[in-house]
Amino acid sequence: MAYGSVHSDAGPTTIEVPMTRFSLPQQSHLRRLIAAGAGALLLLLGTGLTMPGSAAAAVPGTTELAYYDVTSPTTTTGALAANLTRTGYDVLEGPLTNGVPILAAEADAQRLRRGGLTVRYAGPLYQPVPASFVAAADTYYGGYHTAAGHEVHNQAVATAHPDLAVLRSIGQSWLKSQSSSAGHNIQALCITKIATGDCALNSSGTKPKFTLMAQMHARELATGELAYKWIDYLVNNYGTNTAVTTLMNTTELWVIPIANPDGVDIVSSNSTRPVSQRKNAHTNGCSGTGLGVDLNRNSSYHWDVNQGTKCSETYPGASAASEPETQGIQSLLSQIYKDTKPAADFSAATTATKGTFLTLHSYAELNIYPYGWTNSLAPNNTDLKTIATAMGKSNGYAVVHGDGGLNYFAPGATDDWIYGTLGVPGYTIEVGPSSSGCSGFFPAYSCMSSFWNLNLPAFLSLANAAARPYPTGS
Ligand SMILES: [Zn+2]
Repeated sequence: MAYGSVHSDAGPTTIEVPMTRFSLPQQSHLRRLIAAGAGALLLLLGTGLTMPGSAAAAVPGTTELAYYDVTSPTTTTGALAANLTRTGYDVLEGPLTNGVPILAAEADAQRLRRGGLTVRYAGPLYQPVPASFVAAADTYYGGYHTAAGHEVHNQAVATAHPDLAVLRSIGQSWLKSQSSSAGHNIQALCITKIATGDCALNSSGTKPKFTLMAQMHARELATGELAYKWIDYLVNNYGTNTAVTTLMNTTELWVIPIANPDGVDIVSSNSTRPVSQRKNAHTNGCSGTGLGVDLNRNSSYHWDVNQGTKCSETYPGASAASEPETQGIQSLLSQIYKDTKPAADFSAATTATKGTFLTLHSYAELNIYPYGWTNSLAPNNTDLKTIATAMGKSNGYAVVHGDGGLNYFAPGATDDWIYGTLGVPGYTIEVGPSSSGCSGFFPAYSCMSSFWNLNLPAFLSLANAAARPYPTGS
C-alpha cells in the first residue's frame, strides 16, 4: 500500500510528547511517534485532532493495531484524511466511501472519538493461523515464504529449469551494503525459453520484456506470494499450456519476487503475528516500524523531499535513489529496457517501445497507471489506459491514475520512474480486496488462491502487451 503518512518527527526543534499512561506493543508504528515536532502540534490546534500516542488519560482495552474507519460530522472526508495524515496517523490507501481508513491502536481510536470524530472498528490486523500449521524453516503466518524461502525457491527453479530460467543478483539490500554478512542480495529471475542472447543484461535482445516486481512494501504479504506463484506457473506450464508456451517462446518474463528483503525479514520475524514493517531497514534513529526508507518514494524520477520525515511511513530517503535496493532495481531495468522516451515529462514514448512493467502492492483493489505524481495526463495516456482497462476487466479493480481520488500523490514511485525515464509502461496492482475477510496487509494464507485466480489474467494481459504496448502512440 502506498498510503501517505506525514508527521513531524525528531529534529532540532523536537519536543517530546509524553506517553505515560499506556505502553505500545513492540510492533506498533506508534512507537515512532513519540517525538512530535512543534509544527505538528500547532497543526493539531484547530483540527480537533490529538496526536496518536499523546495519551491524556488511561484508556481501557487493547493497544493492538487494528483497522478503523474515521468520519467527522463537520469535516469532509478528504480534508479529514489530510488532517489525520498530517497529525501522524497511518492513513491507508483506498476508497473513502466508509470514511478514512486508518491502522491504529484502540487507544488511539478512543482518543479520536473524544475529539468528536466517529471511529468505526473495521477489522483486525491479524487473522488466526490454523493450529495445524507448523512453520517450516522458510515460511511464516500460515504459509507465506520468508525472504530466505524465496531465495531457496529462485535457486531451485533456476537449477531445475536451466533451459527456462536464469537467476541474477541485481543489487544489495541496505543491511548487505553495510556488512557482507548481513542482509540480502536482491534477486531477479529471467524466465523464457532461453535462446542465444536471451536474459542478457542489455537491451539488444529480440524478445520484448515483462517484469513483475513484488513486496517492495514488506508488510504487503500477498504480493511476494503472487510472484512466487507466477514463477511456478510459468515454468510448470511450459510445453503443456499453449498460451504459456507461446508467451515464453516470445517474451522474457523477469521477476523480482522480493524487492525489500530486509523489510521482509522484519515482517517474518514473528511467525504468527507478522511485524507491520513497510520500509527497508536503513537505520534512521526511529524506533519500531519507523525504521527505514520508503522504497516506493525513493526512485530518481520526481523524488520529493516533502513526502515524509524520517520516521514517516513515506520517508523518501536522504536523496533520490539513495537506497541500494532502488539502485539495484533501477540499474537492472535501465539495462534490459530500451529508452524510448524523451526526458521531458510530457513528451511521448515512441510507438516502437517494447516492454511492460508491473509492481505489486496491497490491498486497495486498484489498477494504477502513470502518472502518480500529478493528475495531468501522461503523453501516452490513451495506450496506457487501454492496457490498465484490460487488467481491470480481469481482476475487477478500479482503473486510476494521478491521486486516484485518494487524496495523495506518489512521487518517486517505481511505476512512474520506469515510464517517465525509459518510456516503458509501468503499472501498479493494489491486490485486494479492500474489505471482507481477505482484506488487510495480513490476510490468511488461505486467501492466496482467490488473489491468484483474480490476478493471473491481469499478469498475462500485461505480459502479452509487452510486444506492442503503444499501438496508437497517444
Ligand atoms: Zn505498497
